[in-house]
Amino acid sequence: MARYIGPVCRLCRREGIKLFLKGERCYTDKCAFDRRSFAPGQHGQARKGKVSEFGRQLREKQKVKRMYGLVEKQFRGYYEMASKKGGVTGENLLRYLECRLDNVAFRLGFSVSRAEARQLVRHSHLLVNGRKVNIPSYQVRQGDVIELLAASREHVRVSESLDGVDRRGVPAWLEIDRKAGKGKVITLPQRTDITAPIEERLIVELYSK
Ligand code: SF4
Repeated sequence: MARYIGPVCRLCRREGIKLFLKGERCYTDKCAFDRRSFAPGQHGQARKGKVSEFGRQLREKQKVKRMYGLVEKQFRGYYEMASKKGGVTGENLLRYLECRLDNVAFRLGFSVSRAEARQLVRHSHLLVNGRKVNIPSYQVRQGDVIELLAASREHVRVSESLDGVDRRGVPAWLEIDRKAGKGKVITLPQRTDITAPIEERLIVELYSK
């Protein structure tokens, strides 16, 4: 499946918010957004007019899509699934995004960014309930155990990332055994578990036009 491979700091500057796409660098003073917190490009510093409702909806959708490292087709697919499922569409959408295996690996601290987590999954470093799964979009379920292969736990990047997991924080819906390089989905995420500043209502409004 396609993915964005261009410069990622531009995306944070475009969306006007830190999306934490570069791992440790995002927490240092090298962060491009901290240094130049205006939109990229020739007109990035130009005075902005009033943003239309459509503009707000579009920016919110782009922000969340970029946060989770997806392209339009994938993101739209999650919206379609969320709208067909019972309950609140926006919350369903966020739950689908959070339950992606690459996101869960990132949340458990196996990697410092979702992009790196995606790589871990693609390169078969993870087991789900004891079986190798190399599909980043795999949806975890309640009770699933996600584990790093024994050899993968020794990787410098992985162990450094696990060391920094306390700073980033593991959400309440996941449980981690850092020494064993293993995590468990205690329950599926609720809206309150997703603390990133997201207004999913705007995304639903955009797509439901
Ligand atoms: Fe965004 Fe991280 Fe780059 Fe800062 S360092 S602009 S948070 S990707």
